[in-house]
Amino acid sequence: MDRQLILRYLLNSNRSHTSHQNITDMKHISILGSTGSIGTQALDVIRQFPGKLKVVALSGHTNINLLIEQVREFKPEIVHVSEDKNLEDLKNAIKTSGTKLITGKEELINIATYPKSDMVLSAIVGFAGLIPTIEAIKAGKDIALANKETLVVAGDLVMDLAAKHNVNIIPVDSEHSAIFQCMQGEDYDMVRRIILTASGGPFRTTDLKKLQKVSVKDALNHPNWSMGNKITIDSATMMNKGLEVIEAYHLFKIPPFKIEVIVHPESIVHSLVEFKDRSIKAQLGLPDMRVPIQYALTYPDRAKNTFEEFSFTKYAALHFEQPDIKRFPALDIAFEAIRRGGNTPCIINAANEIAVNAFLKEKIRFMQIPKIVEETMESATPCVNPSINDLLETDIESRKIAEELIK
Ligand code: NAD
Ligand code: MG
Repeated sequence: MDRQLILRYLLNSNRSHTSHQNITDMKHISILGSTGSIGTQALDVIRQFPGKLKVVALSGHTNINLLIEQVREFKPEIVHVSEDKNLEDLKNAIKTSGTKLITGKEELINIATYPKSDMVLSAIVGFAGLIPTIEAIKAGKDIALANKETLVVAGDLVMDLAAKHNVNIIPVDSEHSAIFQCMQGEDYDMVRRIILTASGGPFRTTDLKKLQKVSVKDALNHPNWSMGNKITIDSATMMNKGLEVIEAYHLFKIPPFKIEVIVHPESIVHSLVEFKDRSIKAQLGLPDMRVPIQYALTYPDRAKNTFEEFSFTKYAALHFEQPDIKRFPALDIAFEAIRRGGNTPCIINAANEIAVNAFLKEKIRFMQIPKIVEETMESATPCVNPSINDLLETDIESRKIAEELIK
């Protein structure tokens, strides 16, 4: 795929209407994963813009009670749940809202491709978000992308597909939103390096010996962000930053040697771009995911909101330090996965999902997570130019290997 073409569509397509103070047209939105951390915060954003942002389709997996509340409030045209059980209350709720209910794993695609939506917020966690996101792209929907695993697993395929269908992929991840915002009006050929910031998670200062024994509760106690369990554990191992390096590599077509990670405990500078003239642009703000979510939903416009104001005196000092690869090997594993290419990022993603799940169930210890990921990377079958089917097979094989290692 021609790099310039991708960059042009990333930055300039859909810019036929120039930036205004407010959102110009009513945008119809489908949310994949509306009951999660990103999903609920997106609804909080949408709540602020009645008449500008409208929810038309929701998927909530198995969280029926929250979905009932969401249906009552937002009255989507269609709603999806994965399992066909305990649906009496939801059925009653949709009677009054006039919402259509669909159930079953296969039917999730209908939320991704719902004809009346302009944009799909991809906010399911993990590999499960991949196929619905691909189907949304094929249906020509702009994507607000929270599900980083989509680009980790199938970045080449997904970016090519987006260019082919003339679809915008707007990052929701705060670091990538920061870079995307810094790059507005800039030339990618003039980028010297991209610097992703990382909070360092709850164990930034914990020594290696103590890290072996940390509990699930400790690992879930993130200092700055409140997020779903999987990404919170990924933040503690710094695998999250590894996945984000891969995400940035695909999203911005930047070679890995131009991507750096710096630990920034305050989570105020969300990421930076250094240009060839040594000028550095950064995007700053309080750690509030609603800001990047809103930017993605309203792009290319900005819109006024009522979120908390940033106080410079409250954050009089900001700190930056090098990540410690000995304590957080996941970062190196991710760079190695990019170097190997092919299906390797898919392998490490699958192994990581299995290992994180096992840690959450207290079947393995914290430092075994990166070990299992690395060992799976060494033993799964490599594939140079994987198709979607190859990646589905890789995912299954890698999960099996990781599960065996855990046993
Ligand atoms: P979460 O666990 O809070 O929510 C996940 C959502 O996906 C829920 O609605 C859940 O019901 C649904 N879901 C889970 N498994 C599913 C399946 N198999 N099929 C269909 N739906 C399923 O997760 P989250 O923290 O909101 O994260 C969502 C995505 O956004 C992840 O990829 C994460 O890396 C990314 N992200 C999250 C944050 C954050 O602040 N939470 C920040 C940046 C990126
Ligand atoms: Mg992030």
